[in-house]
Amino acid sequence: MLFGPRPARRPLRLSAKLLIASVAATVIGFSAICFDVLFDMRRGEMELARQTLENLAASIESDINRNVEIYDISLRAVAGNMLLPEIRSVSKPIQHLILFDRATTAKHFGGIQVFDASGHLIIDAATLDPRPEDRSDEEYFTVHRDNPDAGLFISRPMLHRSAYAIVLSRRITGTDGRFLGVVAGSIRFSYFHNLFDQLNLDPEDTITVLRRDRTVIMRRPFDLDIIGKNLGERPNWNPANLKEGGSYAGQGPVDPTPRLFVRTASTNPLFVVVGKPLSAVLNLWHKEAIRIGAIVLALTLSVLASTIILAREINRRAEAEEKLTEMATTDALTGLKNRRKFDEVIDAEWRRALRHKSPISLLMIDADHFKAYNDTFGHQAGDQLLVGIAICISDSVQRAGDCAARYGGEEFAVLLPSTSEGDALKVAETIRLKVLSWSDERTRSTVSTGIASVTPEAGMEWSILVTAADKALYAAKAGGRNQSAVAKIPKLSLAA
Ligand code: GH3
Ligand code: MG
Ligand code: MG
Repeated sequence: MLFGPRPARRPLRLSAKLLIASVAATVIGFSAICFDVLFDMRRGEMELARQTLENLAASIESDINRNVEIYDISLRAVAGNMLLPEIRSVSKPIQHLILFDRATTAKHFGGIQVFDASGHLIIDAATLDPRPEDRSDEEYFTVHRDNPDAGLFISRPMLHRSAYAIVLSRRITGTDGRFLGVVAGSIRFSYFHNLFDQLNLDPEDTITVLRRDRTVIMRRPFDLDIIGKNLGERPNWNPANLKEGGSYAGQGPVDPTPRLFVRTASTNPLFVVVGKPLSAVLNLWHKEAIRIGAIVLALTLSVLASTIILAREINRRAEAEEKLTEMATTDALTGLKNRRKFDEVIDAEWRRALRHKSPISLLMIDADHFKAYNDTFGHQAGDQLLVGIAICISDSVQRAGDCAARYGGEEFAVLLPSTSEGDALKVAETIRLKVLSWSDERTRSTVSTGIASVTPEAGMEWSILVTAADKALYAAKAGGRNQSAVAKIPKLSLAA
């Protein structure tokens, strides 16, 4: 049949289960070690990238702050020299010579300007004849006017003399502490562009130069929308993520690309944050992780597949062995236990009955006139009759511990532990009547049964029971067959 019901799955043996469990534990253990190694590698890659970015950020920051410092020295010199009483009396070229050194004419640096206490331009390093300018509203002016301790003030990025720049300024304070004006100069964005162009960076790498209040002074890639903004106020960004000298892996305050960000650890007026996309940082690791992961997965699958095959083989063999054992103890024709098994069972049950002082009964059942039946209907029909009698016996003997066996030829034995003589007789009669009603009218097959029952005592052998049952069977035959006869055991046991 093509679409028959599937055979029920047999449960796995303990040894097969142990095999599967130990292999599974080994596979899980190895996989855990592999994953641990992979995560160590990832940590290593991140640490290496962090160090590289830290060095980059430190070198950018030191360049920027060195230039700021140089420029600041010039500003302070101008602010100091402005207090010289002679400065206003000398000619403008001499004034310039006294106030401005060569640093202020360096590339990317705007010319230094001096404003009086009301914000009007009075001296300009770029020209001897400056045009009137009023800067009294500019933050770099008001900060110094209102705060004597502002020190070096770095402005937000702004358009200064038609170029983007940051303005650096210092207060001019009279010897009496009076506000006398402001000296200001600028660093153009071209300085930062030039600095960043010298670095070998990927397009997605970011460099952000910030004031200490987190105002963006400059950013690469250049983006006017973000320059001048305060990153401490960005939505979806917690400034505590990136502390001084710290690093952060994830989405930054500007764009959604996850990056590894590293911030410099100094206390300079400007600090630097560099970022590298995590995909670039972990590119090599990703490839390695996929390669190792695929190998581990393939090995795991093949080990599991072979284990399952092995476990099934173990099961199959165990079943074959069980079947062989079963065959060695079973009568091939009737499916009842064979004589060898019966002898084992009666031996064990006899000793148990002896220990428990419980009765044990034996039926010896023999087909009546079986020779004649064989002769009349043939050997095969005789076999059929034996199978029929065996079925009648099995149907009547169902208690656990009962043992029905083919004792030899057309003779059967039924051992009934913990069964009294009366109960044994009832079983014998049930079998006899069952055979009688089962056999067909014409042949009218019957059985005779000898019953022996005893509560074993020390010194008695189980052969007593067999001999007694045999004798009772002989009596049943002699009594006319198709009947059950009970042996007189007490006398036998005394005789033994
Ligand atoms: P009784 O009523 O006194 O028991 O007479 P009987 O003919 O049954 O007893 P007897 O011992 O004279 O004959 C038993 C016969 O059973 C002899 C043998 O040919 C037959 N026999 C023994 N084993 C088998 C078997 O496995 N199959 C078949 N078909 N016949 C068997
Ligand atoms: Mg017989
Ligand atoms: Mg016989």
